[in-house]
Amino acid sequence: MTIRFALALKTDAPAVDSSTNHFLHDRAIAAYLGLAIGDALGATVEFLTPREITEQYGEHRDIIGGGWLRLRKGRVTDDTEMSLALGRSILRSGGVNAGAAAEAFSEWMRTKPVDIGNTVRRGIRHYRQTGETSVPLHDYDAGNGACMRTLPIALYTLGAEMETIAAAHRAQAHVTHHNLVSDAGTLAVIQMVQTGLRGGTRDDLHKIAEALVASDERYRFDRRRMENPGGYIVETLRAVFQALFATDSFEAALIDVVNRGGDADTTGAILGMIAGAFYGLEAIPKRWVTALEKDTAVACREQALALLS
Ligand code: MN
Ligand code: MN
Repeated sequence: MTIRFALALKTDAPAVDSSTNHFLHDRAIAAYLGLAIGDALGATVEFLTPREITEQYGEHRDIIGGGWLRLRKGRVTDDTEMSLALGRSILRSGGVNAGAAAEAFSEWMRTKPVDIGNTVRRGIRHYRQTGETSVPLHDYDAGNGACMRTLPIALYTLGAEMETIAAAHRAQAHVTHHNLVSDAGTLAVIQMVQTGLRGGTRDDLHKIAEALVASDERYRFDRRRMENPGGYIVETLRAVFQALFATDSFEAALIDVVNRGGDADTTGAILGMIAGAFYGLEAIPKRWVTALEKDTAVACREQALALLS
């Protein structure tokens, strides 16, 4: 059974002048390129420890491909591909629709992706077998797989009420990850991206992270440095928040987080979308933008703008 709903949005959104529009477009593109760049940069060192990274690369700071997936230089992985699939489903169906998202993920799995997480695979199989667009509530499935692909929701629901944003988030996330810890963390990431898109301050971002910590102590990130973060959403976001708040540029933040190893493509992707939205396009090193595969960079730019409008 497919539960369908389309979100009616932005009908009463205030009109924006062209300079505001320009700012927003810049930030949205930066968020999407940031996601892809973090994914491509981190994939090289995914599953390595910080010590192994130092031994093999010194400080890892360039998009060079390789890694356990033996990627071509500039190739992205499931984090970016699933985001693009979700974004296409929103544009095609004119709203966030669980059935359309599940179908898009299923189509993507049919393309034999270079990488796919276990929870994602299980969720898509569940959809194929039952037609259900939500897996049952799981206490332990707190992986980062729904968070890594959440950017299209952040872009599309910009300006919507929190309840609408949360419903849109659940529709896409629960296809594979139905977990309250993941929901809370991912909603915080959406809010941080949207705050960046609106030109919010570092302090604004910090308050969102602090509110998440206040709601769930496990997310506390101001303690021991999180090295080698795994796919558990709490570890992933603690590393992302630490790197974001310990640095003062897009480049430094991404280099900080991927050199912690672990699920580095995903910490890179999530930090990349927040930091892209926050610092803007000018702050993204040109060498990283040009290293991305052309088709990916074009798709990210186009979708960023299409999802806003
Ligand atoms: Mn990946
Ligand atoms: Mn990953």
